[in-house]
Order: sequence, then C-alpha cells, then structure tokens
Amino acid sequence: MPKTAHKPGFATRAIHHAYDPALYHGALNPPVFLTSTFGFDSVQTGADRFAGEAEGFIYSRVGNPTVSILESRLASLEEGEAALATSSGMGAISAVIWSLVGSGDEILADKTLYGCTFGLLEHHIHRFGITARFVDMTNPENLRAAISPRTRMVITESPSNPNMRLADIAVVAEICRQAGALLVVDNTYCTPYLQRPLGLGADIVVHSATKYLGGHGDLIAGAVVASREHIDLIRSTGIKELNGACISAFDAFLVLRGLKTLNLRMDRHCATAARLAHDLEAHPAVEHVFYPGLDSHPQKALAERQMRAMGGMIALELKGGLSAGRAFMDGVGLATRAVSLGDAETLIQHPASMTHATYSPEERAKHGFTDGLIRLSVGLEDYEDIRNDLIGALDQLGGAATATQPVAVRDTVHA
Ligand SMILES: *Cc1c(COP(=O)(O)O)cnc(C)c1O
Repeated sequence: MPKTAHKPGFATRAIHHAYDPALYHGALNPPVFLTSTFGFDSVQTGADRFAGEAEGFIYSRVGNPTVSILESRLASLEEGEAALATSSGMGAISAVIWSLVGSGDEILADKTLYGCTFGLLEHHIHRFGITARFVDMTNPENLRAAISPRTRMVITESPSNPNMRLADIAVVAEICRQAGALLVVDNTYCTPYLQRPLGLGADIVVHSATKYLGGHGDLIAGAVVASREHIDLIRSTGIKELNGACISAFDAFLVLRGLKTLNLRMDRHCATAARLAHDLEAHPAVEHVFYPGLDSHPQKALAERQMRAMGGMIALELKGGLSAGRAFMDGVGLATRAVSLGDAETLIQHPASMTHATYSPEERAKHGFTDGLIRLSVGLEDYEDIRNDLIGALDQLGGAATATQPVAVRDTVHA
C-alpha cells in the first residue's frame, strides 16, 4: 500500500489492500495457494492453531492465504471489520442463516428476493423449525408492525432482484436494532462501490461475488462481511461444520483480479444503464421500466441518498405482457439470453421462467412481480450497440410502425 497518512481511496484499496508483494518475491499478483492442508512444525503448534491460540492456517475449508487476501480486501471495501469468502452467494446466505438462527426463531424477509433465497426461506427452512415471513420493506412501517421478540434475523436486498424495489436501510436497521434482530443486506446489485449497508447500520452484508465483484462471468463465489465476532462464528460453524461452502484459492484469485477494476466497471455499467433506461421508457412498446434513476421510480430520492449511482440492472414490462416479452427476448442479437448478472456482456432473462421460477405463479403475484417482467444486466459493450440491439428488437414487436432511428454516433459514451 502507498505510504500515506490518509486512508487510501476505494480504487487503491481494491487494487492493493492486504497484499504485500515484498513477502512474495515482489510478485505483482498474489500466489494461488493450491493446497488443501498446511503442515505444523510440532504437535503443539497444531493443537494451538486448533484451539485458536496461535495464528496460522490449518485446512483450506477454514482458511487459505490467497482467500485471506480477498477477505481482507472485501472487508476494507465494505468498511466492515472482517469478511468471509464462500463458494457461492447461496453458500454465503445459508452459512449466515445456519450459524445465527435456530429452531423456534423467526426470519422476516422482504417480499421480493433473489429466487433461491426465497426458495430457501419459503419452501425449506420450516423443516428446521425456523419460520420465515415476508413483509413489504419499501415501507419500513410494515417491518415495525411485523417484528417481534422471536425475530432473530431480517433479510433484505436493495435494490431487490428482480423488480428494483428499495429498502431504506438506515430506517430498517434502526427498527432491527430496537427489536434485537440482526439485519442482513444482500448487496450484490450495488457492490460496496455504490452502497455500504454496514455504514447505514446493517449487521451483515452478503454478496454473490459471481456477479459484479468477479465481474467477468467466469466463476461462482460469494462473501459475507460483518463484525469480527460474527465472521469468526460463521466461519467456525456455518462454513466449517454446517455447509462447507468454502471458496477455492483459484476462484479467490479471480475475484481479486475482478476487484481491481470494480469501480471502473461499475461507473460504466451505471452510465450506460441510466441512458438505456430513458431510451427504453420512451419506446411505445414498453409499458414500464423499473430503474431507480428514473423519475417514474417511486423511490428515486431514497436511491439518490443511499446509492452513489443507480446501478447496472434494469427491469422492464412490455405492453404485450409475457408473449411480447418472449418475442423481444428472442429478437435481441447482441444481448445474451442468460441468467446471472454483472458481467461484461449484456444479459437478458425472464425471471418468471428462470431465476425466479422458484416462485409459483401465485407467489409471484403475491410477492410483487409479473410473469411479463424482463431483467436486463447492462454490459460493458458500446452504448450505441446495446441500445440499437434492444430498441431494434422492440421495434420488431409492433412491426415497422414504431421504428426509431438507430444511433450512429460512436463517441457519445460517458464513463
Ligand atoms: C445471484 C444472486 C445470489 C446467489 O448467488 P450465487 O453466487 O449464484 O450462489 C444471491 N443474491 C442475489 C441478489 C443474486 O443476484
């Protein structure tokens, strides 16, 4: 790290934090420690490490030097005390729940969540004696009314996957604090570059590092950031003994590589998405665009308070509902029909039949998104190319009558 009295900025920490090349022959990048186990120089050393009385590695399910660098860096970027890297976002979420919630406890979650988080809470967790209930956290008063002494944990995403609803994290955190419940915020959509929930009062941040943190669509990984006490507990119970969802050193290396450009990529995702959201909203075939930066988003003011920029995810509803949505998705050429998000490539998918197929049609209606909703992860390609692809596919829907001029100018992208 640069020798300075000031705390280095976000980009500097994303590139340098917690790695000292001098310890590794000056290597610019950290070594990938492909080892499952670590030798002890004496039986006493091994015993001391197991007892937590000596520093040092034991076994890569519970700690690995490459993974440790990633964990320190993520903790620094989220401004948390400590972090834990996991094999997937679901590995992070399940490790948090198994470590901190038990039989008889209740979890309150926002009414729209990533499909597999919803599946875990709605369809499976009752088998372990835990109840899960859902409240609409766009209005924190709903949470205040629902929270009870049995509520051990509150889980929310902001903006939510897939319909871009926001929770006022500071207000929600205060309600949780008063009730003695832990607030877990899934910060996958924003990354610490756009939003830092711990600073707003959340107890635990979870990530799918598969998405923007990795940023290149070449890995599956997750992370938890929280107090040292919580991270130690989640590592020693959730990861070590309950779900075993440790990350490989190689994937940790790839996430570290992705983090070096996180702020640059996010700036570009956000700039392109903001322009596209306006273009899409203006198209006659479009019924509604869900994007926090639009005047039509009911929580735009909250988004401006809570987020540095409005993110790279857009949801939209077409006038012809599901059938128009399917025709639109089959009509795109540059955008890839695929789940996941946060990659360099623009990805387009249909939550009701893909990422959120874990919700039944009745559950989708009850939890606030329609079968016609389309989710777009705006990539890093040239703005004009993404725009022409999407608008061209929209133009095809209503025949040539709605055709708009493609943009030709190539140098109008602002980063
Ligand atoms: C993708 C995603 C997850 C799950 O992460 P995996 O890495 O796929 O296990 C959790 N939350 C959100 C918001 C996601 O987008």
